[in-house]
Amino acid sequence: MREIFKGIKKYIPRLIAAYILEVLSTLCAVALPTLMTGVVDNGINAGDMQYVYKACAIMAAVTVLDVALIVFSYKLGNEAIIAFNHDLRVRIFGKVLKMPAKEVKKYGVGGLLTRSLDDADRICDVAGTVLSVMASIPITLIAGTVLAFRKSPLLAGILLAFTPIVVLVVFLCGRNTHKHWHIADEEIDRQNTLIRARLSGIRVVRAFNQEPTEQAKIERATRRMSKSIVRGNMRSELVAPISMFVLNVATVLIVAVGAQQMTKPNTLLTAGGVLAVIEYVGMITTGILNVSYFLSEIPRFRTNCRRVKELLTAKDENEGFVRGEELKADGSIRFENVGFSYTGDGLALSGVTAEIGAGETAAFIGGTGSGKSTLVRLLCGLDTPTEGKIFFGDKDISAYPPVEIRKNISCVRQRDAVFSGTLKNSVDGAGAHTEDEVRSVLADGQMQGFLEEKEEGLEYALGERGSNLSGGQKQRVCISRALLKDAPIYIFDDSFSALDFLTESRLRGALKKRLAGKTQLIVTQRVSTARTCDKILVFDGGKLAAVGKHEELVKNCALYREIHLSQSGEGLTEAEETEAEYEREE
Ligand code: ADP
Ligand code: MG
Repeated sequence: MREIFKGIKKYIPRLIAAYILEVLSTLCAVALPTLMTGVVDNGINAGDMQYVYKACAIMAAVTVLDVALIVFSYKLGNEAIIAFNHDLRVRIFGKVLKMPAKEVKKYGVGGLLTRSLDDADRICDVAGTVLSVMASIPITLIAGTVLAFRKSPLLAGILLAFTPIVVLVVFLCGRNTHKHWHIADEEIDRQNTLIRARLSGIRVVRAFNQEPTEQAKIERATRRMSKSIVRGNMRSELVAPISMFVLNVATVLIVAVGAQQMTKPNTLLTAGGVLAVIEYVGMITTGILNVSYFLSEIPRFRTNCRRVKELLTAKDENEGFVRGEELKADGSIRFENVGFSYTGDGLALSGVTAEIGAGETAAFIGGTGSGKSTLVRLLCGLDTPTEGKIFFGDKDISAYPPVEIRKNISCVRQRDAVFSGTLKNSVDGAGAHTEDEVRSVLADGQMQGFLEEKEEGLEYALGERGSNLSGGQKQRVCISRALLKDAPIYIFDDSFSALDFLTESRLRGALKKRLAGKTQLIVTQRVSTARTCDKILVFDGGKLAAVGKHEELVKNCALYREIHLSQSGEGLTEAEETEAEYEREE
């Protein structure tokens, strides 16, 4: 709880001001029934119309003051709570950005969204309610009870006798509801993830005419979600009607007993008195209902807090490393028996031992699922090897925080994201470079033609996730973005796959010039790309099958030869195919 509300300090003066205004407004509300008793007893019953006018004018003034106080209190309090909500969301987002990739995967994007938006909102809603309701509750309860006692201890006693019943109702209804909320919130996360995936893949859904199937899936998930929400809500929603019923029975009794008392000779109880007691009962009823509402919200509030706290206290991926030392790589990379497992059982990558010299261009080639992108993940510090070590120069990178590792790497991931915004922003997100620099990387990234075509130039607006770009254009924007970052090592994970051969060859030419002296790792499916590199690493089923130059590999590596022949259009003779197969099995 402290973790969540630690940012609220700076809003405390405003919250206190709102609280004081709320207290004053409650005092106004409490004064009204007493004034009304005067109107009935001293004015109407005594036939003194002057008194009635005067008292009514005072009551009107008190009411206006009450409204003004409520409005200002609400404004101040709400502003503070909304500002706090804003801070909370920003804090959560900041934490998520630094969360280890594994944690992000654990929560899922759907879960992270609900936690940082819905859960944060509900926490602030409840905090706002506490502020506005809690200020008035003690005053209405205490003042209401005292004043009701002064008018008639007997009638007030009836009310007090019913109060424990309401407390019991609140207690019984609120018991154990948190587990329903826990399930409900998990279902909401799941629902979000599902809808998000379907919406981002909406074209696939349409292309395969799968709308009814997908709708049915969402329908099932929604039904599960609503069931758990209904279960959670059912009990808390019962509190208000049952309490209301009990208190209404109390009111009826008060009216009946009050009327009977008034008919007795020598009674001190007046009609105004009974009316005032009923007013106070109303006030106390509202107070108790507010408390019960608040208590019924506690289980869900606790669940919301726990979920947000998990994010706020999540591990920072850069924590726990020896600090104070920068990782300055010269561009050389060494893999020493590197292996990695995503799930804990079975290695997606194993026994990779190789060396790439500073300034070399190395190609990673191999079938899909052979572990190339996994190795890129490790190089970017998104995960640490399960086995073995990766060295930049003579430094084992696992000793450094990911932020240091990434200072040395500029990477285009296989499925890289283009953000919405202007073309310039999507290449230079931080706005730290000049327009000329951005134009120059776009030109090297082979986006020159595109840039010239568009009237808006660098200000051309990209749709959500670059929706108004073709696959190849998206890749080129990502490549340009990577070129803008200065680092000793550049990685292009299958980044040229959507480029035609001519564009790719121009791009490679530009890279050669721009990245002269830098290390380049190019993951590719094309032998035509790989053969121009200084070194080729051939991957097969998570293992490094061979390392060498094109000519050597054609001679010595059956798999590489197979890939080469399948792409050069020459095809394998039956004998060669058998030989290749045989060699691979060995
Ligand atoms: P490549 O890039 O060579 O096509 P990857 O490195 O992406 O291959 O994948 C290697 C293996 O790791 C594959 O068998 C794949 O199923 C598995 N894998 C890849 N990404 C994940 C992931 N996020 N979680 C679990 N397994 C994964
Ligand atoms: Mg890959």
